[in-house]
Amino acid sequence: MADCDKYQLETLAVRAGTARTQFNEHSEAMYLTSSFVFDNAAQAAARFSGEEEGNVYSRFTNPTVAAFQERLAALEGAEAAVATSSGMSAILALVMAHLSAGDHIVASNSLFGATLQLFNNILSRFGIETTCVSQTDVGAWQAAIRPNTKLFFLETPSNPLTEIADIKALCDVAHAKEILVAVDNCFCTPVLQRPLDLGADMVVHSATKYLDGQGRVLGGAVVGPKKYTDEVLKFLRTAGPTLSAFNAWVLLKGLETLQIRMEAQSAKALLIAQWLEAHPKVARVFYPGLPSHPQHALAMRQQKNGGGIVSFEVKGARAEAWRVVDSCKLLSITANLGDTKTTLTHPASTTHGRISPEARAAAGISEGLLRVAVGLEAVEDLQADLDRGLSQL
Ligand SMILES: *Cc1c(COP(=O)(O)O)cnc(C)c1O
Repeated sequence: MADCDKYQLETLAVRAGTARTQFNEHSEAMYLTSSFVFDNAAQAAARFSGEEEGNVYSRFTNPTVAAFQERLAALEGAEAAVATSSGMSAILALVMAHLSAGDHIVASNSLFGATLQLFNNILSRFGIETTCVSQTDVGAWQAAIRPNTKLFFLETPSNPLTEIADIKALCDVAHAKEILVAVDNCFCTPVLQRPLDLGADMVVHSATKYLDGQGRVLGGAVVGPKKYTDEVLKFLRTAGPTLSAFNAWVLLKGLETLQIRMEAQSAKALLIAQWLEAHPKVARVFYPGLPSHPQHALAMRQQKNGGGIVSFEVKGARAEAWRVVDSCKLLSITANLGDTKTTLTHPASTTHGRISPEARAAAGISEGLLRVAVGLEAVEDLQADLDRGLSQL
């Protein structure tokens, strides 16, 4: 869409990135093809050399993938987006495109587990070092800067404790030293938070979560100014973790309902958070939309609402938390999130199960902690399901 800045987000979500073929189809066409044909030898040569724009091979570009990229970029208020095969490949591609051996990253210590493993256990073998600091302590990010620091990487709110990073404050610190800032916007999506508007240089997504929203496909993206995404594309087209046309088409359709899903899931999450906070068997609730959240004011400045993820501690430890999980008949026991079906996770024994008990305790992940990724079911039904176990404690 040429005039993206004229339209509201919900209009862009259904209209941006639409290009019709000669058949004038209303729903976007899906181009399941690995390669593209040229009119003649001269055109093949021109396409390969880059003299002429156009599709060559789907590891490089594909029209369905391009449509998804265009729509997502419009929603984030960005110049461009590059889609990847998963959220993790988006983070890998961003780092491979913008950093080299000898460079240094400052990252939040409460990032998604696989991101921390990528930074600490894999990139470290290739000469890229990472210093992890508290998500909420701007001074710690500043103090961790070295002469070779190239990237600040953050994810807000964090999983599962919903800690908020002050995007604008961290951008000010980073940009004073010409350091790039990348934000994993998986939990909020552009509907609730637009990091580029707050000064971030790039946004990464696990499209697997809310962008699909129905638990069907894996996907990811790096979003930002073309000068940055072009570098990511250069890495992708050579290294190969591109998004498939089929998954791009599913995600393109997912984006059409993103706004109404985010609004509805966040509204339900707030009601569940309020109910849990008043529950006699609940020790503590972590939800940015509650005034009891230590960074409620910052969250409400930075995000449109508290989002769809609520974590809480039961009164008790692992046995009590598992009793709540095992008493549920409706909530899905799975680690995925962002689905229309509500999911329930015990982080200490699943997503955070492989880190040492001491490190887990230091990170604030207690044995009694549960995470609910609220879907679209009726709030009353979700409450009744959680209460079945809670009332037994
Ligand atoms: C799931 C997730 C990822 C990784 O995405 P995949 O699509 O599973 O590779 C990255 N960041 C966050 C915050 C996530 O929740």
